[in-house]
Amino acid sequence: MVCKICPRQCGVDRNKGVGFCGQGEKPAAARAALHYYEEPVISGCKGSGTIFFSGCSLKCCYCQNYPISHGNAGKTITVERLSEIYLELQDQGAHNINLVNPTIFTQPIIESIRDVKHRMKIPFIWNSSGYELAESLRMLEGLIEVFLPDLKYVSPKLSALYSGAADYFQYASQAVLEMYRQAGGVRLNQDGMIEKGLIIRHLVLPNSTHDSIKVLQWIKDNIPEDAYISLMSQYTPIPQTSGMKFLNRRLSRREYHLVVQKLQELDFKNGFIQSLESACPEYTPEFDLSGL
Ligand code: SF4
Repeated sequence: MVCKICPRQCGVDRNKGVGFCGQGEKPAAARAALHYYEEPVISGCKGSGTIFFSGCSLKCCYCQNYPISHGNAGKTITVERLSEIYLELQDQGAHNINLVNPTIFTQPIIESIRDVKHRMKIPFIWNSSGYELAESLRMLEGLIEVFLPDLKYVSPKLSALYSGAADYFQYASQAVLEMYRQAGGVRLNQDGMIEKGLIIRHLVLPNSTHDSIKVLQWIKDNIPEDAYISLMSQYTPIPQTSGMKFLNRRLSRREYHLVVQKLQELDFKNGFIQSLESACPEYTPEFDLSGL
């Protein structure tokens, strides 16, 4: 069957070839292990059972996971193996199953969750770029407890320049609304870990505070207050952005302060503000096929 699962809508048969995302039909991933560098309600003290999927339908030029998103590093696995991995991570004590960049494998992920859902005591997290079709997300109904999308840009110019997707906001805004419809507001368990709900992430980029403020305003105007927002400061230039005038440096203190100030002005009730000092290399783990 031809693939139109994400907004790229390539229409290729992924049994025979690949589209923009660079991936065939079977799931492929680069790591499945406990991960400790997500928001505190996700990582807790025992870690989030994180599966980093290979390929990407967005491919931002500054991606911190470049070798897997652009380079397609990773290993192809079966749907049955993916189900086993969920159980193994649960046995290792994971607070949740964190599906990183899952969109292009929506169908095999649905099958893999259905096979083991009755044995899972921890929530599934859909940790995505936000560049998704609302109708594809509707297929996840009842399978995913927590949605953790990015909302990267409002400006079509910026999204075209950095992610080759002028229509990013058009799709991501609808995707986030669908995620809230399914998961609703955040609910924590007695240990303070997330059980269900929506957390929207926004990574502030250098030279883009104007657009960050538009993102915050849209969230405030469109998403109920019981969803969380996670403002992130960890942008780090990579070799691929070294020639790019606007992306070849870290975020300045002044820029981040401006966006944090807007967040406070808008009076968001729930969420996280990453400190500017906290970015560290551990955020990006080794993509060494662990746990696959
Ligand atoms: S998942 Fe891949 S092949 Fe399918 S539409 Fe998106 S980019 Fe194209």
